[in-house]
Amino acid sequence: RTFSWEEHHMTIQSGLWFDPTKLLIGGEWRSGAGGRAIAVENPSTGENIGQIAEGTATDVEAAVAAAEAALDGEWGAMTATERGRILVRLSRLVTERAETLAHLESNDVGKPLGQARNDAVALARYFEFYGGAADKITGETIPYQQGTTVLTLREPHGVTAHIIPWNYPMQIMGRSVGAALAMGNACVLKPAEDASLSALAVAALAEEAGLPAGVLNIVTGYGHEVGAALSAHPRVHHVSFTGSVGTGRRIQAAASENVIPVTLELGGKSPHIVFDDCDLDAALPTLVGACVQAAGQTCSAASRVLVQRGVYDEVKRRMAEVYAGLVVGPASADHDLGPLVSGKQKAIVAGYIAQGKAELTIAGEGTIHADAPAGGHYVAPILFADVDPDHRLAQEEIFGPVQVLIPFEDEADAIRIANGTDYGLVAGVWTENGARQMRLARKLHVGQVFINNYGAGGGVELPFGGVGKSGHGREKGFEALYGFSRLKTISIKHG
Ligand code: NAD
Repeated sequence: RTFSWEEHHMTIQSGLWFDPTKLLIGGEWRSGAGGRAIAVENPSTGENIGQIAEGTATDVEAAVAAAEAALDGEWGAMTATERGRILVRLSRLVTERAETLAHLESNDVGKPLGQARNDAVALARYFEFYGGAADKITGETIPYQQGTTVLTLREPHGVTAHIIPWNYPMQIMGRSVGAALAMGNACVLKPAEDASLSALAVAALAEEAGLPAGVLNIVTGYGHEVGAALSAHPRVHHVSFTGSVGTGRRIQAAASENVIPVTLELGGKSPHIVFDDCDLDAALPTLVGACVQAAGQTCSAASRVLVQRGVYDEVKRRMAEVYAGLVVGPASADHDLGPLVSGKQKAIVAGYIAQGKAELTIAGEGTIHADAPAGGHYVAPILFADVDPDHRLAQEEIFGPVQVLIPFEDEADAIRIANGTDYGLVAGVWTENGARQMRLARKLHVGQVFINNYGAGGGVELPFGGVGKSGHGREKGFEALYGFSRLKTISIKHG
């Protein structure tokens, strides 16, 4: 159901189990060392709804020291099974508080309630999955010289840093911290300055679930201060980053000074590729939904739709109908789309839309509902048709509800256009031809291919990550557990 503003705020006020103005370091909720704060804005209204601590490099230092102490103490000595049990307990607590978490998130980032609820479900599922997996990762024995036994051990890196963005804070925290904790690392997490509330809320639940002090530390603050200090810290052993290409580059450069591994989940310009022979009725809802979800602020958003000539006009007409029915409004009212996260993000997206309107053909557009408060950051979703694959709107990640339709002639043409950007995160392929499905799956330069479906966000079991400027390393699934651990080889000469 939808909520009135009063109910929406009440749910959050009555449900809070943590102090959003504090950092969590070494099991202690404390003010930032600099004593400064960052205002929290509700993107649906533009109103100030509170504040978070503006952490500093001093706080990062304290958090890393707390994580080291945890590794030297109870956490480092704990069995994988017990670590897993704590994560499973955390999963249950997230499920119990899911409604409040969803309200908190939708107030903080403007996500429609239904989508925020899905994120809370996914968060619980990550902790459940990685809780169950914690004691299923094993080493191996390797045949070697006579009289020698060789075995491998999977060990945690040690202190892991997690720098996450604002678009799916709960899901991204779950996938990255869940896997890191399952493998026995101690984490320092920096949420985005626009979206820190759910990370603090989840960390408080982790305490309740029995996670020892210092195993999960949260330092809120700005990227140039907290993020930079964390990624350059000489006693951090791994950095997991999700965000923009520019920041990813800086983080990789900082980490290279300390010669430590990084996982980079960056942007995308993911294509849907629609062939003449596909089941259009099955494809259509996904073609639009996979882009406009979270108001297009999704790294895996299918922002390009490549359509074969034979069905191009029909796809254009039917997608335009879907667009005409899309409604944008405040997060609490659970419309199809909420606002963008900030005025800054709205200005960026509006710039792309203005260029599109000046240079391209508009095929369809949604509407902003009358209940949208004037101070919110609303943008109507828009579909442009007949777009040249090299046009700026078909090349750059917009991170807003903007989709382009590109016609293609044949399979070779489709592959060339699909692979023709700097990115390579996800691709959707719609065809009933089995041989073609396999050819496309192999030829597309991406980290995930969805055939006759699309859903990078779901499926905690599915490894996820990109190629090219979309980044490197894989999170989610079992694969993430290898990334959050290192292999040690032991050779024993026994005669
Ligand atoms: P961003 O790179 O500006 O910020 C992401 C995080 O990095 C934030 O916590 C921020 O505070 C921090 N940060 C900023 N500057 C930093 C620095 N110098 N050193 C260390 N940390 C720093 O990105 P954004 O604008 O918040 O998010 C949008 C971008 O993220 C989009 O380009 C999108 O494609 C990408 N993204 C990718 C994925 C994925 O899984 N591949 C998921 C979500 C978002």
